[in-house]
Amino acid sequence: MNKSSKIAAAVPDPAQDGATKELSPSEIRGVLEVMEPGLLVWDDNERCVFYTDRLRQVLSMRAADLHIGMTRKDFLNGSLIRGEISEESLLAINRQFQSRETFQFDRQLRSGQVISTRARPLGENGFVVTFTDVSMERTKSTELDETIRIADEARAALATTLEQEKKRQYEAGILNEFGDWLQSCKTLDELFAIVLRYLEETLPGSQGELYIYSNSRDVLEGTLSWGRAKLQAHIHADSCWSLRRGRGYRYKRGEIGFECAHVSAITHLPIEEYSCIPIVAHGDTVGLLHVRYGGCGSVENKLTDPTAFAFKCGELISLAIANVRLRDELHEQSTRDMLTGLRNRRYCIDTMSALRSASERSGAPFAVISLDVDKFKDFNDNFGHDAGDAVLQNVASTMRDTLDAAHVPCRFGGEEFLVILPECTAQMGLEIADTLRRAIMQSQITYAGKPLPNVTISSGVAAYPETSNLVEGLLKEADLALYQAKDNGRNRVECAPPRGERNSET
Ligand code: GH3
Ligand code: MG
Ligand code: MG
Repeated sequence: MNKSSKIAAAVPDPAQDGATKELSPSEIRGVLEVMEPGLLVWDDNERCVFYTDRLRQVLSMRAADLHIGMTRKDFLNGSLIRGEISEESLLAINRQFQSRETFQFDRQLRSGQVISTRARPLGENGFVVTFTDVSMERTKSTELDETIRIADEARAALATTLEQEKKRQYEAGILNEFGDWLQSCKTLDELFAIVLRYLEETLPGSQGELYIYSNSRDVLEGTLSWGRAKLQAHIHADSCWSLRRGRGYRYKRGEIGFECAHVSAITHLPIEEYSCIPIVAHGDTVGLLHVRYGGCGSVENKLTDPTAFAFKCGELISLAIANVRLRDELHEQSTRDMLTGLRNRRYCIDTMSALRSASERSGAPFAVISLDVDKFKDFNDNFGHDAGDAVLQNVASTMRDTLDAAHVPCRFGGEEFLVILPECTAQMGLEIADTLRRAIMQSQITYAGKPLPNVTISSGVAAYPETSNLVEGLLKEADLALYQAKDNGRNRVECAPPRGERNSET
C-alpha cells in the first residue's frame, strides 16, 4: 500500500462510486491541518521537508522558528533555547534519532502546556514527528499521582501512629505492673530482686547497675547489675554528672556531653549512649540508676523511647525505696523506747518468738536476762523523777557499751530490762549477766552536775531449750530467778533451774 492510498482508505473508493475521487494533495493537507496533532517530516538529510500550520499552533511558534529546509539540529536547538527541552533530554533525543526506532518525549512550553512529541522513522534516515498537546491528560495524571501520594503518606502516618500507640500501651502496662510490684515490697532486698527482674526483661540489649548510698554516705555501694554490666563495689558521687548536678543525665556520643568517670572506669571502649538517673526518696538522693544502651535493636523495637522509659523506671524505684524506708522508719519508731533508745517490749517479744522458731529448726540455744534496778524508787524519792530517768538512761547506755552487736537489750517497762542473747546457753547468759551487773555497778552517774549514788541491778537468767521451750516460759522463769536474786540480797545474778529440776509446767 502506497502513501496516498493510506490516506485514501479513509474516504469512499472511486471504483465503487463514480461520484467520488481520490483526494488532491491540497485536500490531503486540509485533512492534516484539521487533525489534533501538528505534523513535521525530516528527510534523510535531517532537514524539514513538510510541516502543518497546526504544528505552529501547537508549539506556539513564530514563522522564524521553523521553515522548509531547516535542519533538525537547528530546530532542536531552538527548542532548547526556548526552554522546552533540557540539555540532558536533547542528548537523549539525539540518541533516539540515531537508534532509528519510534520514540516519545514530553516538551514543556513557556505557557506551561505539555506537548507529547512522537517520532517514527521514515525511509533511510528520515522521521515523521507528531506534536500533541497533552496538558490536560498530564495534569489529570499528576493530580492522580498527587492524590495517591497523599493517601500513601496518610496510610504510612497512620501505621506509625498505631505502632507508637501500641508501644505506649505496652510501656504503660509494664510501668503499671512494675509500680504495683514495687509498692508491695516490704524490704529493700525484695525491692532489688524485683527491680533486677524488670530491668533485665523490659530493657533487653541494655546493661546497667544500681548503686545505693552506704550508711556512712561517703560512697554509693553497688547493689545490683544486669546485662553484661560489671558491678563496681562502690563509686563516689563525684564520679557521676547526674549526682553532681542533681538531675538525670543522658549521654550520647556525637552530642555535646562528658562521660562520667564511673562509666569510663569500667570500659576502655567508646560508649555510645547511657543514662544516669538519681534515685531520690523524700527529697534525699539515696542512689543512682545507670543504664547503658548497647545499640541492640530490640530495646528500640519494643519501646517508644528507651531513655524516657528508663527515667520512668527510676521514678518508680525512687518512690518504692521512699516507701520501704518510711515503713522501716515507722517500724523503727514503733519498736523503740523513747527514754532509753533501746528496743521496747513489743519488739522484744517478737524477736524472742522469731528466735524460738529459728532455734526449733536449727537446734541453736538462746538465753534471756531479766534485769531490774535495785531500790530504784529511792532514786526517784531522793533526787526526783528526772534523776530516775537519768539512771535509766545510764543503765541503757552501759548495756549498749558492754554487750555484743548480736545481743538485743530491751526496756521491758519501768526499771525492768530484758536482754536477748542469740546462740547462748544459760551458763553463757549467767556470765554475760554478771559482766553487765559489774559494769553498771561501776558506772558513775551524774545528774544536774552532781554525782548520784552507785546503781546496782539484780538479774535472772533463763535459756532455750534448757529452762523452757516456750517464750512465756522463758520470761516467767527468768523473772522468778530475778525475784530469787532480789530475795538473796540484790546486786546479784541467779539462773532459772533446768526444766527437769522443777515442778512448774513451763
Ligand atoms: P526493787 O529493788 O525491789 O526492785 O525496788 P524498786 O524500788 O526498784 O522497785 P519498785 O517496783 O518498788 O519501784 C519501781 C519504781 O520505778 C516505781 C515507779 O514509779 C518508777 N518508775 C517506773 N517507770 C519509771 C520511769 O520511766 N521513770 C522514773 N523516773 N521512774 C519510773
Ligand atoms: Mg521493778
Ligand atoms: Mg527495782
